[in-house]
Amino acid sequence: MEKAGDMGIGRGGRRVVVIGGGVAGSLIAKSLQFTADLTLIDQKEYFEIPWASLRGMVEPSFAERSVINHKDYLTNGRLVVSKGINITNSDVLTAEGRLVAYDYLVIATGHDDPLPKIRNERLTEYQAENEKIKAARSILVVGGGPTGVELAAEIAVDFPEKKVVLVHDGPRLLEFIGPKASDKTLGWLKNKNVEVKLQQSVELVRSSDGSNAYITSSRETIKADCHFLCTGKPVGSAWLKETILKDGMDSFGRLKVDENLRIKGHKNIFAIGDITDIKEIKQGYLAQKHALIAAKNIKILMDGQKESKMAVYKPRSIKVIVSLGRHDAVAQFPFTTLIGLVPGLIKSKDLFVGKTRKAMDLNPHIVHY
Ligand SMILES: Cc1cc2nc3c(=O)[nH]c(=O)nc-3n(C[C@H](O)[C@H](O)[C@H](O)COP(=O)(O)OP(=O)(O)OC[C@H]3O[C@@H](n4cnc5c(N)ncnc54)[C@H](O)[C@@H]3O)c2cc1C
Repeated sequence: MEKAGDMGIGRGGRRVVVIGGGVAGSLIAKSLQFTADLTLIDQKEYFEIPWASLRGMVEPSFAERSVINHKDYLTNGRLVVSKGINITNSDVLTAEGRLVAYDYLVIATGHDDPLPKIRNERLTEYQAENEKIKAARSILVVGGGPTGVELAAEIAVDFPEKKVVLVHDGPRLLEFIGPKASDKTLGWLKNKNVEVKLQQSVELVRSSDGSNAYITSSRETIKADCHFLCTGKPVGSAWLKETILKDGMDSFGRLKVDENLRIKGHKNIFAIGDITDIKEIKQGYLAQKHALIAAKNIKILMDGQKESKMAVYKPRSIKVIVSLGRHDAVAQFPFTTLIGLVPGLIKSKDLFVGKTRKAMDLNPHIVHY
């Protein structure tokens, strides 16, 4: 039988290093911790469920279940809390100057988000954001993608007395899904008294009376007590631009992967999640599917099985649900768009937090600290 080492893959070893502890990276780390000599490198010591973050701003205690220390599910793996800054054919270099050797490497650094290193600091941030919302009479949300829409909706539902203005520089909200979903979402927000301004960008200036004034690109002035920037995060691949993977990226900085989720031209380096160039909408539930396929393929290679046995990932058709407060949501499926309570029943109450915790082998309801 061909050995992985004979094929030049992973030199027959079982050292797996995962860089990035988000949706994809934490799941693959959890899945491989008992079969591989596993190290997770993340710039923070916790995994956060991204689609629960806006609820955490209106209800900080919600974040208790959605901000999870890596150590809670990574009971048999090593955790290195640092930024990956370089990779060679054998090692990862971290910002703290540590070299971590690998036989198989998984890049899962989806988005670069400057979050605090420690869980408690992140929970404190939620408290502070909540105080900011509670203290304001008027709130400006900048950005009409999923984050801006979900935040505006959360505030409009939980604090209907507050004036919410949502400014987006594109022609429609939620541009990553269909125009019908955008129109329905716009109608829903207007119905909740959210003022939506499209095709305008904003510049923050401070008025002479000390209050915040915001000037839009159409020279309109918006007065608001505070603002939240929801303009998307950069792809987490800037750190790879001077590494052995520099030629493995497309023009958006996404890593080009083959059908087995290996980076093209590299036999023992995988990429999963939003950082890949897979032609599908970037979604966490798809990042989880990538993680499970890559975990399976790494096991196959570690066991010295033939490469042809590896599982193939097929891009998925569109399935997106954007929550609109605690009860409603807008959903885009391949043949239909829905808004209101029906899609809301699927996502909006628990925001898949229990489900995601369960997938990490954690109690869906209770957090012990
Ligand atoms: C508001 C909102 C709502 C959403 N709702 C849904 C939903 O309902 N359903 C759904 O399926 N998807 C949803 N998504 C999309 C989903 O969150 C993403 O597709 C998912 O987070 C991608 O996972 P990932 O692991 O690839 O990247 P990320 O989750 O971005 O994780 C990347 C990780 O890498 C770390 N990292 C980055 N650079 C480095 C480095 N150099 N060294 C070490 N660590 C690094 C980061 O700290 C982070 O932990 C939503 C997104 C948002 C913003």
